[in-house]
Amino acid sequence: MARGGNTVAQKRTKTNRGSYQSKKNPIRPLIWVTVAVIALFLIIGALSQFQQQQGPITFQETPSLEGQPIFGEADAPITVVEFGDYKCPSCKYWEEHIFPQLKSDYIDHGKVRYTFINTLFHGEESALASLAGETVLAEYPEYFWRFHHALFEAQPQSHSEQWVTVELLAELAETHIPNVDREQFIQLLTQKSAQPAVDVDNQLVEQYNVQLTPSIMVNNVMLPDPFDYEALRAAIEEQLEAVQ
Ligand code: CA
Repeated sequence: MARGGNTVAQKRTKTNRGSYQSKKNPIRPLIWVTVAVIALFLIIGALSQFQQQQGPITFQETPSLEGQPIFGEADAPITVVEFGDYKCPSCKYWEEHIFPQLKSDYIDHGKVRYTFINTLFHGEESALASLAGETVLAEYPEYFWRFHHALFEAQPQSHSEQWVTVELLAELAETHIPNVDREQFIQLLTQKSAQPAVDVDNQLVEQYNVQLTPSIMVNNVMLPDPFDYEALRAAIEEQLEAVQ
């Protein structure tokens, strides 16, 4: 009985201790410490990313323009480079809202030359669109920019929709390039004849560690926010002062 009583008493003690432990669980502070440490790391990570995004990044040199399309005066003192993707909605926004300001303020005045470097962040459609652009640049260079603008214009509002097809690209070519040979264009496109030019762009994307589209450079300086036109203007003015 006594043994039995002890057992009951022990059970009670265990139960009481168990219930006490569940209220003052020693693991709980450990969990909070772990959560706090993780939160701290996340905050530090976010801050460092924030700082990284806040400041411009200066590279040793402006991306090579060899084989790239130039919009504006070829010998303009300042180069603005867009790392962009025809499939990217933000690039369409940049093309429609920032580019026209850049054009009227600087490109039309011979102060800036602009180029577009394919940045394939959206899979097969990006790849196909970039091949089309490079094919037009190689075969019908004087119509490249017309085709480039038309391609962005063709991008639908629905971001997930598949829209870059050989058929659409051939249609755009027919609409915007006088006397284009449709069948030859399709053949060049499907045979990936312009792939070496796309590869050159891919190398530049890697070399300049491009993480987002669009990414905008003014000469050798990568801007933190491609949509901040005032910052773009300030960067151009600063570089203009340096060359004058
Ligand atoms: Ca290119």
